[in-house]
Amino acid sequence: MRAERLAATGMDGAGLVTILWRGLTLACAACGSRGLFHHWWRMRSTCPSCRFRFTRSEGFWIGAVGVNSVISGFVCLVTAVGLLLLSLPEPTWPAVLLPSAALAVVIPIALDPVTRTLWTAIVAAANPPPPR
Ligand SMILES: [Zn+2]
Repeated sequence: MRAERLAATGMDGAGLVTILWRGLTLACAACGSRGLFHHWWRMRSTCPSCRFRFTRSEGFWIGAVGVNSVISGFVCLVTAVGLLLLSLPEPTWPAVLLPSAALAVVIPIALDPVTRTLWTAIVAAANPPPPR
């Protein structure tokens, strides 16, 4: 049933929440299988289980970069504001800004695989892949 639906529609019939959860947990949006990466920064071109092609068009991954930037910027902002509030009434600016600057480097690198699979899931939910 699930395999037939995958072949007929390109997705296994999962709902929106399941598809997005799969994206957040590095799983294939179409079938939920894992092993989508050769290593942390190198994603396979297709799902090893269902052959779902991840790159849907030229420039597809710019959306993942956007998602990564928004999440990273939010984390840096929350960190800076939190450290500022903790250091009041006499904030020491290096103690407020240096941790945020360090996170601005680390978070985008650490989140790269998650934002790739999340972006793939967002696009698959909005525009399901063609039948295979
Ligand atoms: Zn798959």
